[in-house]
Amino acid sequence: MSMDKEMRIKQLEEDLQRAREKIDELETANIKFEAKTNRSLSNNIFDLKESVIDNIHHPLVILDDKLKVVFANKYFLKTFKISSEEVQDTLIYEVKAAQWDIPQLKTVLETILPSNSRMTNFEMQVEGNGGTEKHLLLNASEIQLSGTDSNFILLSIENITKRKIAQNNLKKSQQQFRDLFYSTTSLIAIFHGPDHVVDMANDAIVKVWGKGKEVIGKPIVEILPEIEDQGLVDLLNRVYSTGEPFHAVEKPIAFNIDGVIEERYFDILYQPQRDSNGNIIGVANISSDVTKQALLNEQIKKSETDFRQLVNFMPHKISIAGLDSKVKFYNQSWLDYVGLNLKEFLERPWLDIIHPEDKERISKEVAQHLSNGESLETEIRLLNKKGDYLWHLCRSNPLKDVDGKIYSWLTSSTEIQKLKDDEKRKESFLKLVSHELKTPVTSIKGYIQLLQSILPENVETDSKNIPVKPYLHRIESQIERLIRLISEMLDLSRIEQNELILELSDFQLNEQIETVVEDLSFSYREMQIDINHMDQISVNADRERIGQVITNLITNAVKYSPDAKKVSIRIFKTDENQAAVSVKDYGIGIALQEQQQIFKRFYRVSGNKDETYEGFGIGLYLSNEIIEKHQGKIVVKSEPGKGSEFTFILPLK
Ligand code: ADP
Repeated sequence: MSMDKEMRIKQLEEDLQRAREKIDELETANIKFEAKTNRSLSNNIFDLKESVIDNIHHPLVILDDKLKVVFANKYFLKTFKISSEEVQDTLIYEVKAAQWDIPQLKTVLETILPSNSRMTNFEMQVEGNGGTEKHLLLNASEIQLSGTDSNFILLSIENITKRKIAQNNLKKSQQQFRDLFYSTTSLIAIFHGPDHVVDMANDAIVKVWGKGKEVIGKPIVEILPEIEDQGLVDLLNRVYSTGEPFHAVEKPIAFNIDGVIEERYFDILYQPQRDSNGNIIGVANISSDVTKQALLNEQIKKSETDFRQLVNFMPHKISIAGLDSKVKFYNQSWLDYVGLNLKEFLERPWLDIIHPEDKERISKEVAQHLSNGESLETEIRLLNKKGDYLWHLCRSNPLKDVDGKIYSWLTSSTEIQKLKDDEKRKESFLKLVSHELKTPVTSIKGYIQLLQSILPENVETDSKNIPVKPYLHRIESQIERLIRLISEMLDLSRIEQNELILELSDFQLNEQIETVVEDLSFSYREMQIDINHMDQISVNADRERIGQVITNLITNAVKYSPDAKKVSIRIFKTDENQAAVSVKDYGIGIALQEQQQIFKRFYRVSGNKDETYEGFGIGLYLSNEIIEKHQGKIVVKSEPGKGSEFTFILPLK
């Protein structure tokens, strides 16, 4: 190898070495430059970060031109719950589970932005976790950071889902309000300003105003001049100036509809309307048309007044009591009678003015009728303002609602003192007459018996062929009827004056009944009267009076059996170990509704012709009184056309 050749190779090697060194030098310089650039970028960002971005209360990221995150502010990290290491130097699409790997976002960042260099309030709807809709609001702009030539993107991504939902709800509720406003039958109008210019008015109120549909923007007086004189504009003014709402019930308002004045009634509310500073800007009118109801109420009020007046003018004493028997109302007649005003009388228990002797009976009767809901009729002595007790006839009737439920008791009390006095006089007269009659009639009977005994046995007629003996017999039976009647009347007045005294003794009931039946058999020869002694019973009672009761029951049994020829008597002990005697006939019977009435004084079943069945309606009343005085009772079982069975029961000691 020549020297030349060797020299050239050496030369080349030296050149290569120099070139290598240059490259190294250049590389070092390049690295240095790059480091410098990065440092200055960081410094810039650091500046920005310090000064603005990091403290902005808004999620922000800065991306480089490759869409790599170079910076994310505090609010961004907080909002999306990411650490700065997770985002730094990462492609925005790859950040935390690639949640921004959204095609729309890509389009925005890659195409829209380079051409527009700015994007404002771009809303995006994406599907979030679990299929829920997620709303994002994007704002982006290109920024240049000093010290670098590259473009960066400042991007804000805001999750506005909550705000969006709230907005939608608001829209929905506004729509609902609108629907309600226009479809409700309530009358709604909103007035604006001191002249009450109509801002809104729903169809219902426009119809009531009756002035056509063109109302919006007009002051209310222009639409309805007739309301000014009725004081409504003054009311609106007052609400507008004071801010105090106005409320009225069943307020009459007259409208002028095509020249015809039409009065209607309204429940009204004028409500002040305020702006966000609390200043009054108008008045809302929310009303309802209650004309029908008001007219009805007026009618009810009127008929109630009529009723009250009617009740107050009545001479009868009228009262209304609740279910607890507490009185709620007394009419004027009552107040005049007791000399108290309504309040005073209502505070006084009604038992206070009842005669002490009637109190117990009345309390019992009232309690019974309250519980069974049947009407009550009773006689009662009531104290007047002078301190006298006067007799009253009281009738109490339940008042029922539409379902038939009792809600009150209406009682009418009529003074019957005069009737009672008359009755008493009549009773005294009867007693006197009966007394006076008894002696002559008894002596007539004596004379008849004397005449009968002195007439020879075989004489039926006298010399002039008059049938003396049969006549005497008839006179005797008529006199006996008369005596029975007189003693019944005497007994009656004894009972009325509480003078019926029992003379108690122990006796054999069976024997006593045998005796009575034997006596009666003479008078009723054609009747078959059977006695069934089921038990032998001794009683402690008034022998004569018990005999009188049996006589009465048998006499009735015979009297009311025109076609039957049989009466059955049973003497037995009841299951409760009481003495019982029943008298059964096969006669005309008694209808159910009459069965309790027949024990009343002078009560006779109508339809039983008086001339067919003689009597005065006293017998059963006396019998019942006698048995009740013995602490016993009389019961009747009967069927019209089949017969009756009267049973009296006496307690055994
Ligand atoms: P009177 O004197 O009218 O018989 P009572 O007081 O004895 O009076 O009886 C009252 C009414 O009861 C009678 O008028 C009659 O209508 C009815 N009565 C009483 N007993 C009987 C009976 N056994 N059968 C049918 N009706 C009877």
